[in-house]
Amino acid sequence: LRDYMDSLGRPKNLFIIVNPFSGKKCARTVFKKEIKPLLAAADINCTIIETKHRNHAQEITKSLDLLKYDGIVCVSGDGVLVEVVNGLLNREDWATAIKVPLGVIPAGTGNGMVKSLLDPAGDLCSIPNATFAVIRGHKRSLDVATVLQGEKKFFSVLLLIWGLVADVDIESEKYRWMGSPRFDIYDLCRFGLQLVGEPTHPTSSPFKLALLRIVKLRKYHGRVHFVPAPGYEAYGEPVKQVDNFDGHILLSKQDQGSATKVKSCGYQGPEISLEGLEWRSIVGPFVSIWVNNVPFSAENYIPAPKAKFSDGCLDVIIVRNCPRSALLGMMLKMSDGSHVTLPHVMYLKVKAFRLEPGTRVGHPTKGGIIDSDGEVIARGDESAENSEHKYLMAYGPP
Ligand code: ADP
Ligand code: MG
Repeated sequence: LRDYMDSLGRPKNLFIIVNPFSGKKCARTVFKKEIKPLLAAADINCTIIETKHRNHAQEITKSLDLLKYDGIVCVSGDGVLVEVVNGLLNREDWATAIKVPLGVIPAGTGNGMVKSLLDPAGDLCSIPNATFAVIRGHKRSLDVATVLQGEKKFFSVLLLIWGLVADVDIESEKYRWMGSPRFDIYDLCRFGLQLVGEPTHPTSSPFKLALLRIVKLRKYHGRVHFVPAPGYEAYGEPVKQVDNFDGHILLSKQDQGSATKVKSCGYQGPEISLEGLEWRSIVGPFVSIWVNNVPFSAENYIPAPKAKFSDGCLDVIIVRNCPRSALLGMMLKMSDGSHVTLPHVMYLKVKAFRLEPGTRVGHPTKGGIIDSDGEVIARGDESAENSEHKYLMAYGPP
């Protein structure tokens, strides 16, 4: 049987990371009752560890003896998976480490990756389906985007968002204590479902917060630069003079940083020469910007229906002049991906992307959280003051 299983490429030894803090905080029980018995029946040896704090999964994977395992499986939301990817890419042996198969079994509030994996196969995003996928050992490649911000570097496998949606999402993070999953509140807020149903907590703070965001629609000033993927060259305006484009500064800052500090040993990001590329730009104000690596950002949101796991491109959705009335409709359509044909929605694929919140457009943007894979990587108000935080780039993979 073992030989046969080997021939199928099925895993025999798995390192399992359980986040007891994920979602409704029942990952531990779910693992014991629903997942462990299936893995045992499939004759898989499991080494199990529970995360004790934020970044614990990243610390563990940075020093894990990878030779002992056929894969790392996260019983969590997307957050722990992202930590694992960052842990692996920050290792000295990142080039081999990143080849270790990764799996996710959905136990969080944000399960965009599992949903993106299971949905095209027509499978429901469920714990048993994800567990069976792990047991079968089916694998597919996944692009990693490198997000650079001054000297900071972050590896993203899901998305980067800026504007209305990032603000509501992150601010609603504070309301975990309400006991209901964050995205339920988030749904209610973002989509203004009070129009069609009875909200459970009509006067709750996150509800008011989101309503306020939509009613007093905030505009986010700034501009974006991008290198279009083939077929998307007509979007935006050409960036005429390379002189006007401080991408150089960003990269030289990176170089200075590594010269004065201990050079980090992990993956340095793709080597892209800025000069040879055909950058184009779009100027705000914006309502929201999504940069997605996979189609789903959560189980019930598919902002980037055309996104592919490993096409070397990031899918960008830009909303600029959208009236409030149309905004609600657009958000609702995002649950099945039909928003992409709306007149206020710009959808394109890029090889590289740069975000400049509030710069050179007159006034700095107030607020405006930038969120990559659930991590707040910048806030518009800070970034407008401090040139160190001014620029962001997300490159597609090398
Ligand atoms: P969710 O989808 O519900 O947000 P995730 O698995 O993505 O669930 O985890 C959310 C965050 O919880 C991650 O940023 C992770 O670092 C953090 N985390 C992991 N273990 C713990 C813990 N023991 N206590 C608090 N936070 C934790
Ligand atoms: Mg892609």
